[in-house]
Amino acid sequence: MQGLMQDRQLSISSLIEHAARVNAATPIVSRQIDGSIHRTTYAETAQRARQLANALRRIGVTAGDRIGTLAWNTHRHLELYYAISGSGAVCHTINPRLFIDQIQYIVDHAEDTVLFFDPTFTDLVVDIARNCGSVRTFVALCRREEMPDDAGLAGVLCYEELLAAEDDVFEWPEFPEETAAALCYTSGTTGHPKGVLYTHRSTILHAYASVMPDAFGISARDCVMPASSMYHANAWGLPYAAMLAGAKLVLPCNQLGGADITELVVAEAVTISCGVPTIWLGVLQSLEAEGRTLPTLRTLVVSGSACPVSLITRFRERHDVTIVHFWGMTELSPLGTIARVSHGEATLDAQALDEIRSRQGRPLYGVEIEIVGDGGETLAHDGTSFGDLMVRGWWVADGYFRQEGSFVDDKGWFKTGDVATIDADGVMRITDRSKDVIKSGGEWISSIDLENAAVGHPDVAEAAVIGIPHPKWDERPLLVAVIRPGTTPDAASIRDYLSAHVAKWQLPDDIVFVDEIPHTATGKILKTELREAYARHFLT
Ligand code: ADP
Repeated sequence: MQGLMQDRQLSISSLIEHAARVNAATPIVSRQIDGSIHRTTYAETAQRARQLANALRRIGVTAGDRIGTLAWNTHRHLELYYAISGSGAVCHTINPRLFIDQIQYIVDHAEDTVLFFDPTFTDLVVDIARNCGSVRTFVALCRREEMPDDAGLAGVLCYEELLAAEDDVFEWPEFPEETAAALCYTSGTTGHPKGVLYTHRSTILHAYASVMPDAFGISARDCVMPASSMYHANAWGLPYAAMLAGAKLVLPCNQLGGADITELVVAEAVTISCGVPTIWLGVLQSLEAEGRTLPTLRTLVVSGSACPVSLITRFRERHDVTIVHFWGMTELSPLGTIARVSHGEATLDAQALDEIRSRQGRPLYGVEIEIVGDGGETLAHDGTSFGDLMVRGWWVADGYFRQEGSFVDDKGWFKTGDVATIDADGVMRITDRSKDVIKSGGEWISSIDLENAAVGHPDVAEAAVIGIPHPKWDERPLLVAVIRPGTTPDAASIRDYLSAHVAKWQLPDDIVFVDEIPHTATGKILKTELREAYARHFLT
């Protein structure tokens, strides 16, 4: 028997209209590229999103069109998120840190018809215009007086003029909730980037889950500042989650250095922020150097790579900030599992709680996880058996854009490419990316465990551990470390320090000091490059 409840479809336009009605005056603060601060509200943002939706229609955008954005975390990018998806088109956020030929590939592959860009990206856009055939309209995200020289870009439109010409009344179309809303390509260290195509349903369900107390814990009393990029996995869904909760939203543009972040957190009374561990290591260093604190910040959401326990402890001890560590992927919108403290654990001492918070954690309701062995057999949840991490759920991708068929198995599981353990309480820990595990004499060594331990040493600013060919053991770990400015590298003291944290046979055979570790476009350590550079380190 069918129930008798209304069958309203989940939609991104309903989110912004809700915010405009219920939290009309809630502020949205955006830093601009010149460092100045722009202030608006949810009501005004909804009004401008409607104007933008009218403008999209006027320039010929129709349902299902892919609309590219090359933009920082700003109020205009937020308007694009809502206007494009709300009007039935697909908001394709492009990661400007990808290599130019990858960007050209994804613009072509997505067949973007319109490209909105921050003027800082003009040179990049001129290149794209030269080589990508599908884009017929370019729009610069600025006022007339800030327009870039359109030498290579005939007929580029001005965003503010485009909006000013439009009415702020727009009837958001209704469509099935499975309709595509946004597109984001994963950077991928090998092969072409792959497009993850979010739906209205997956985006709204993900936003619901992420505001829960044991997830990001966002309420209308909060001020949320996403310091993860709006061009990568939708800034972890925070532009939707903040609006759902009615929280104040602060957008830091591209200014993610320690001093910039600190200034914005203090000035706007930010309570929740987020970002990859490296950004917050930088913030911590700058705070310590200047003797400053973050009095309003209470939660820092950290993901993208494993969060070292030392970062959790330092933020707690020195700034009274709780780090919320989650594991996720672009394919998961991106939230998968989250480290949380349960009732029975709440009375443990602070250091024990830090350890609990450093795990990748348990899946949120809406996501299921499993680990399997080489033959596809399910492995024991005993905290030691490790295997391929599989995932399925309401906001997990089923396949990649314009790739034949689904990538899940017959039970709906997606193979993540990560290797993990799950313990009897359902807590998951990532051991490694499957391509990064170190196989030494038949035993596996976790590069993540070694890296986390290494950055706990006071002289180490960043650490990468790679497995490289070894004449006796197949592979042995090599630690590549960046030293904190003003300290003197001392391999012996780092080795001593590590031996307190990992088994002796897992210790790196050597430590090399470098000025910089290479990163991917999404801020992860580029281990392929390091492995190539040091391929013969133990052979010569
Ligand atoms: P990319 O486009 O760089 O692949 P993703 O954000 O999709 O970007 O990367 C997802 C991968 O990042 C995961 O498969 C995992 O290897 C790593 N990762 C993300 N969060 C964590 C975490 N908390 N701990 C360990 N690894 C993580």
